[in-house]
Formats: sequence, structure tokens, C-alpha cells
Amino acid sequence: MGKAVFCNIPAHGGINPLLATVAELVRRGEEIVYFATEEFREKIEKTGALFRPYKGKIDKVEVINNDMIKFVDLLLEMTVDKLDHNLDDIRREEPDYLVHDSMCMWGKCAATLLDLPAVSLMHTYPTTETSMALSFDALRLLPGMIRYAVASRRDPNSAERRLKSSYGIDLDLRDILVNRQGLNLVFTSKCMEPKIYDSEDTYCFVGPSLFFREDASTFPFSDLSGRKVVYASLGTVHSDNPRFYELCMEALGESEYLVVMSVGRGVDISQFAEVPENFTIRRSVPQQKLLGFVDLFITHSGMNSVNEALCYGVPMLLLPHHIEQKAIARRVVRLGAGLSLKIEKLTSDELRRSVKRLLSDSRFGQRAKAWSEIFGEEEKTSHIRAADEILRFIQR
Ligand code: UDP
Repeated sequence: MGKAVFCNIPAHGGINPLLATVAELVRRGEEIVYFATEEFREKIEKTGALFRPYKGKIDKVEVINNDMIKFVDLLLEMTVDKLDHNLDDIRREEPDYLVHDSMCMWGKCAATLLDLPAVSLMHTYPTTETSMALSFDALRLLPGMIRYAVASRRDPNSAERRLKSSYGIDLDLRDILVNRQGLNLVFTSKCMEPKIYDSEDTYCFVGPSLFFREDASTFPFSDLSGRKVVYASLGTVHSDNPRFYELCMEALGESEYLVVMSVGRGVDISQFAEVPENFTIRRSVPQQKLLGFVDLFITHSGMNSVNEALCYGVPMLLLPHHIEQKAIARRVVRLGAGLSLKIEKLTSDELRRSVKRLLSDSRFGQRAKAWSEIFGEEEKTSHIRAADEILRFIQR
């Protein structure tokens, strides 16, 4: 039996798809010590892993104004912060191997510094050299990234320079964007893979992974009957958008649908003056269970949300915010399971018409149901496959 340290970015989307695999490793007798922020203690402890709260100053990842360069800068600052305050704790655990999610650069740095074998788990598409080279959206980002990298090199106080002086780690732009290990597991179906990833054989698509399907909850599921159910959520990172929720109420209030809206922990529900009778609004809902009751999902196109909807065969109205979500939305449209709109220009009229179209044209629902055969089947064993791959790689 071995001992592993898991390191994650503090984000529900980055942690949720890993939990079933952690529980599977624990079931097989592995000792798992999981570093994350206090917010995630409860869900991590459900797997049987030992939770360790991160020390340090930066505890929140956020994409502000969809600015990916600021996001990369935040990840670099967090990398220095988390190494400064947690590396000794990780060393003291004396792990045999380290597992980190693909955005967790400090996980990769810690593995290098402690000379540990490491695996990267991806909750979204891998960013690879070929995907950067072949994606138009990625190419548009590149000049800004290069300017940022050059400025970082010159600034004596940049996170990149501090990483070099304190730890001898020299990250170049490729490390920052790709963050690859010898084994990289991707938690979605191969069907979601844009063809440009075909050549990269270190990436293994194990399938979607849900951990909270059976979660006991006080949500009133029994009220969701007799009418079509529409569920709207912008996930956990982009949810602070009251204008969007007002728009949903304007478009779908007093309609023939029941509408459930998850607005996130940062939004005060009492600010909505008049909530239509057909709306149920919560700051958070048990989404992995709720999708089993839903006819249409209005989503920001986060990879987990899309995986979960396709496991249940729910068609989607996709409102992507940034480059990764745009690629995911394009793929779902190609699969025939949804329509994509620009959230920045969305009007209540367009929203109402699109919802109606998605619910009245049965082809969307039929395509989503057909994909659920594949996604649902893969989901049953993705955690077993992931645990097998991790242990095989580590033993090698
Ligand atoms: N989620 C949830 N309840 C909510 C909203 C979201 O359980 O009210 C979960 C959802 O099931 C998914 C994750 O949070 O597993 C969101 O991940 P995703 O990749 O879709 O988006 P992100 O939040 O990372 O942008």
C-alpha cells in the first residue's frame, strides 16, 4: 500500500471529478492526504482521505473579467504562496507519490522539489502545444501571454523570479500553460475531445466522474413534476451575475416551465424584488442529482456541468464565458445536444426563444439521450480506470 499527497486548486470544478477516484484509492488501501482550503473539507473527508487545510495567504481562484492573463498571474502568485507555506508539511507526510489537478502548478513544483513521481488529473481539456498552435482562440491569447512572460522575467519581484530565487525552479510559458506530467488523466469522454488532441499519447480520457448522485439533500425534488423543468446555473466561478438571473426571470417568469436557478454563494437572493411563482432560487443546489429531474440546462459550459448533463441526457443552452468554455460549447453543439449563445449580448427575447426551440425540437433531447448511453456507461467505471492507471504508473 502506498501513500499519496493530493494537491488541488481550491475550486469545486477542479475537485468534484477527482473525488470518486480518491474514494476508490482509499478503498484499495492507499493512504491519501488531501491539501485544499477549508471550504472543501467536508466533501474531501467523505472520500475517506485525510484533509489538510492549505496554509498561506491566497485562498481563492477566480477569473476576473474573463482575463486569462490575470488568471495565469494569480496561479503563479499562488504557486509561490503555497510552496512557501506548505512544502515542509508535504515533505513531512513522506508520500510515495503526488497527484495534482492540471491547474495546480505548486503540485507539480512540489513533486519536482521532493523528487516524487506525480500524476496530473484534468477536469477539463488539456492545453497542449498542438492545441495552442491549432486553436484560433488560443493563438489570439498568445501575444498577451508572451508580453506577460517577458515582463515577468524583467520584474525582480515577479512570482516567476521569486520561484527561481527561492526554489531554483525556472518555469517557462510552456510549463505554465501545459503543466503536463508523465501520466495525465482527463475526466471526460473521448467524444468531447476535439480532434487536435489525437497525437498526444500521454493524455488518457477516463470518462466523466460524478460523486454526489446519491447525496442526501433537503432540495424539494418532489415539486418538480407535471411541467417541463429548466435549470439555470453559471457554475461556481462565474456565478456572481445578478443581471443574468434577472434576465432569466424576465424571459421565463410565469411561463409553462418550472425553473430552478442556482445563483452561487456570492449572490443575495433577497435582492430579487419579485420572484415569479414558477421559479425556485437557491445559492447552491445538488446539481449531480437535480439533473436527473431536468429537461433543459442553461449552463456556462463548465466541463463538469456539461459532463453531468450528458450523463443524464439533458440538452443544453450554452453560454460560454472564456476560451475553454467556448471550445466545450462548440463540441456540445457538434454533438447535437445544445445551442450556444453569446452571454454578453443575451436578451430575454433570445433566451425565451432558444429555450422554446430546445424544448420543442425533439432532436436536441434525442441526441443528448443518445450521448448519455456513452457518457453514463463510461461514468460507471471512470474512477476504477483512473485508480488503475495511477497505481500502474506509480509502480512503474
Ligand atoms: N455545482 C453544484 N451545485 C450548484 C452549482 C454547481 O453542485 O449549485 C457543481 C456542479 O455539479 C459541478 C461544479 O459545481 O460539479 C461546477 O463545475 P464546472 O466545471 O461546471 O464549472 P466551474 O464552477 O468550475 O466554472
